[in-house]
Amino acid sequence: CLTPHPGRLRRLDPPRRGEGGAFQRLIERIRADGPLPIDTYMDACLHDPEGGYYAARPNLGEHGDFITAPHVSQMFGELLGLWVVEVWTRLGGPNRLRLVELGPGDGTLMSDALRAARIAPAFAAAVELVLVETSAPLRARQAQALAGHAPRWLSRIENLDGDVPTVLLANEFLDCLPIRQAVRGRDGWRERRVGLDRAGGLAFVAGERVGGPDAPLGAVLECSPRLAEVGASIGALVARTGGAALAIDYGRAEPGLGDTLQAVRGHAKERPLANPGEADLTAHVDFPTFLAAAKNAGAQVEIVTQGAFLRRLGIEDRAAALARANPDEGERVDRQLDRLIGPDQMGTLFKVGTSTAPGLDPP
Ligand code: SAH
Repeated sequence: CLTPHPGRLRRLDPPRRGEGGAFQRLIERIRADGPLPIDTYMDACLHDPEGGYYAARPNLGEHGDFITAPHVSQMFGELLGLWVVEVWTRLGGPNRLRLVELGPGDGTLMSDALRAARIAPAFAAAVELVLVETSAPLRARQAQALAGHAPRWLSRIENLDGDVPTVLLANEFLDCLPIRQAVRGRDGWRERRVGLDRAGGLAFVAGERVGGPDAPLGAVLECSPRLAEVGASIGALVARTGGAALAIDYGRAEPGLGDTLQAVRGHAKERPLANPGEADLTAHVDFPTFLAAAKNAGAQVEIVTQGAFLRRLGIEDRAAALARANPDEGERVDRQLDRLIGPDQMGTLFKVGTSTAPGLDPP
């Protein structure tokens, strides 16, 4: 991704200061090792065992820091559950199916999916549930939400072994994978790093010279080695086991430039260096890179917008049925539907990347 050359450090941004344990540890680490690449900073902010957002204080949902599609409406998880049942049917209804979720959060999506999947009792009997999750507090929430389904936990997708047909879901997981950035300066591209300003606060600094395309001064280039690794692991997994995977996230469908690193806390955006460990820190998913890696590893791949995907699965019919069953809730269901598929809401910004075993067409 970014090819390093030696270079001098240069300050780009005004001083910034955060608070808390993760902040102190970062400062000490930068004093000892020098400015950190952004992927190292993101990993520390999200997963530092003491101060990381997911490790220490994940707070999902309406009263927390951010809302995801399964919290918008039960329809989201239900339709994904029916998609999984349809894949299982196309596989010939095997008597073992491994159902994997990456980053299951509080378990809402999977619990809605498995409820909808009860329409196929043989499917329910076949499912072996595997949750890939690093956060201890979220594992505890998932254990509660999915108590009836005997889940097993792993920390990394690479730890999945065996050849049991596997179907995988990942919603707003890929956006947590760490990215690196480069900025086009007067003397070419330089990696952007997190260093210290004179006052001892965190600041973006210019690091080593790296290669990059022609672009205007100030342009930002992002890449994520870990995203490509996860794409390759998913592609190899579905190709090997004859399964399918859905990765849903906000991101781009075409390669492009731009700074998409974003921190969100209490439903508001803040500067990514402002409060390390206290905000969720994500970046737009580079779907072309992710899907190319999956394809290289042997999968068939496709990308559609979330709006188109959910409409094809019948979300409008599901919304009408919910409104009929709960007449007082009609307007609320309409608002939820619009939030999930409206082109000015999640419908276009969010994409669905499918990876399937050769010969298995995604429903
Ligand atoms: N899918 C859920 C939660 C999204 S938040 C939803 O849609 O609501 C991101 C989730 O990914 C959290 O569960 C977080 O703990 C997990 N996560 C983030 N980075 C991870 C990593 N590198 N490995 C495993 N899980 C991770």
